[in-house]
Amino acid sequence: MSFARQTKERLLEIDLKDCCGAAFCCGLLFSHAGRTKKSLLRTELPQLFGLLDRFYRQQTGEALPCLMPSEDKLPLIIAFKEPEEESRQAVLDLFGKWESKGGKVVPDPALLKKECCRRAFVRGLFVGCGMICDPEKEYHLELTFATPAQTEGVLAVLSRCKFSPKLTIRRGRYTLYFKESGQIEDFLAFIGDNNGMFELSNIRIYKDLRNAANRKTNCDMANLDRTVAVAARQVEDIRLIAERMGLDSLSDELKQTALLRLENSEMSLAQMSRELGIGRSGVNHRLKKLSELAESLRAKDKREGEA
Ligand SMILES: [Zn+2]
Repeated sequence: MSFARQTKERLLEIDLKDCCGAAFCCGLLFSHAGRTKKSLLRTELPQLFGLLDRFYRQQTGEALPCLMPSEDKLPLIIAFKEPEEESRQAVLDLFGKWESKGGKVVPDPALLKKECCRRAFVRGLFVGCGMICDPEKEYHLELTFATPAQTEGVLAVLSRCKFSPKLTIRRGRYTLYFKESGQIEDFLAFIGDNNGMFELSNIRIYKDLRNAANRKTNCDMANLDRTVAVAARQVEDIRLIAERMGLDSLSDELKQTALLRLENSEMSLAQMSRELGIGRSGVNHRLKKLSELAESLRAKDKREGEA
């Protein structure tokens, strides 16, 4: 089951207070606002039929004038009963509480007076026309509408609820979306999906830790590369000295150090310090002396080459 579907299933388990039912249904059907549609709803969620029917009965004492969708193919289509036009009118009279005002389609303010009802309205919107990606793959939550007037109306509601989604227009559809994990977590919490919010924040924390761990590994690798490069350079220096002067020409201390490095190019400074029975700075000092000796041999070669 997709992450979006799971999220919606959880949202539908939330018990709606009597005052919130109308706001939820209005949000759910808001994609009808200002448009005539052939069917009441296209959805993957079979439980929506029962839910709409319940609220319809509560308000009118009658059954929802729609046909129970057949569940053998998705999306489920909840169609109006014959006569269609009459049924559509009856359902939208009850649940379609919105009006056009100054280029916006706005939900009836009476529906959104209370905070709980505003949450229910936005939850209905998300169940009706929302989508969320699996946060393991991508942080993305969106609400899609067919007209700019609907989109403006929803933007006004969302901004009242302190959300400011971005807008994109794709193939004549208007999409309000969030791309940041924090905003998506806040949105899920607002519409009542605390489980989803926690799941998302756990994934975010895990991803952050993993990124930090990767950065650290990269850093360790870089250190290791540097150590190997330095040791390789030392081996090269010692070979040059051996070739040109012979290691016997060195003091015992330097000879011992040179032989140890020559035979163990991957040995760390700490290991060499243990082997030689002197401190790390002592080892460092001796290796530095060998390097300087090699450098002086190279410089001499260069002078002679130029002369
Ligand atoms: Zn309410």
